Amino acid sequence: MKRQLAILGSTGSIGTQALEVVAEHSDLFEVYALTANNQVDLLINQARRFMPEVVVIANEQKYPELKEALEDLPIKVWAGAEAIAQVVQAGPIDMVLTAMVGYAGLRPTIAAIKAGKAIALANKETLVVAGELITALALEHQVPILPVDSEHSAIFQCLNGANGNPIEKLLLTASGGPFLHKSREELVVVTKEQALKHPNWHMGAKITIDSASMMNKGFEMIEAKWLFGVAPEQIQIVVHPQSVIHSMVQFEDGAVIAQLGIPDMKLPIAYAFSYPQRMKSQAPRLDFNQYATLTFEEPDMERFRNLAFAFEAVRQGGNMPCILNAANEVVVAAFLEDRIGFLQMSDVIEQTMAKAPFLAKPSYEDYVQTDAEARRIAAELF
Ligand code: MG
Repeated sequence: MKRQLAILGSTGSIGTQALEVVAEHSDLFEVYALTANNQVDLLINQARRFMPEVVVIANEQKYPELKEALEDLPIKVWAGAEAIAQVVQAGPIDMVLTAMVGYAGLRPTIAAIKAGKAIALANKETLVVAGELITALALEHQVPILPVDSEHSAIFQCLNGANGNPIEKLLLTASGGPFLHKSREELVVVTKEQALKHPNWHMGAKITIDSASMMNKGFEMIEAKWLFGVAPEQIQIVVHPQSVIHSMVQFEDGAVIAQLGIPDMKLPIAYAFSYPQRMKSQAPRLDFNQYATLTFEEPDMERFRNLAFAFEAVRQGGNMPCILNAANEVVVAAFLEDRIGFLQMSDVIEQTMAKAPFLAKPSYEDYVQTDAEARRIAAELF
């Protein structure tokens, strides 16, 4: 029996690489559902090639185009956010890869967990926004959450064989992005074109900006807290510009276990799909002669204030990380449209965190309201 996959965000960077993994291992996996936000042409090509049962386009205006292009095939074509939350519940699906961007991942992830589907989690915002709710639901429904984020996959791999020995500390590595050694003065004037040139990873626009501002690492710290049940104080961010060590676990005897490799998202995707097995890969192997020097440094939370905001948000808890995420989504979209400066993004996030109403014990409906309210507040600040 082939494992049936739903790939949410199939036209994005993770989604397309996930389909490459499926194509390489078509004896093991089958695509049951593909969903995309906007990129209808690519979704059509993917549907014709992988022949899923269902495709969903989130943007309902693109529905007629998608429907018409697939008319000759026995593929169901749906549209809208509601349809994405529906499709993940389909009986035959074994695993749902959440690879869409941002807050939009929350609702379908909840629906998939409630339907008992294993989650391959690439959408870190789901855990940033509502980590407490998601981890409690996963426990209640006995659903595994397998990390696809490379750092968290690394930690997950390091913990296999730990035999329940407690984690003393997680060492979360960070490339530092394209602006690692830029001064505050230089950061004032950096452009989106510069920010979009990540030194080691080719990713979607939103996460690439998050990497440049180091919000991505702040989010990953929150993601790690929920995935591995550690306190934020147990998570140390280690800037490692070569991105060869994907993250590490320190145990109580002082031993540090690391996972290394060439930066390639197909490895963590494949590992989540096939866990606990490892599948043969043709990808290039890590050649230590090519990486004569691996370097490490401390992150600078004064130049990269987003990191400090993430620690503050998770310290306060409740809906504060949801506020952090909503404000960040607003400013990153604006930065990509040249409507806000690079450092100004952090100012707006800080002010939104101060202004949005705090809730200590939010329900799902509270998160929905908090997200909308924080977006409204953030948008008025610039
Ligand atoms: Mg990552």
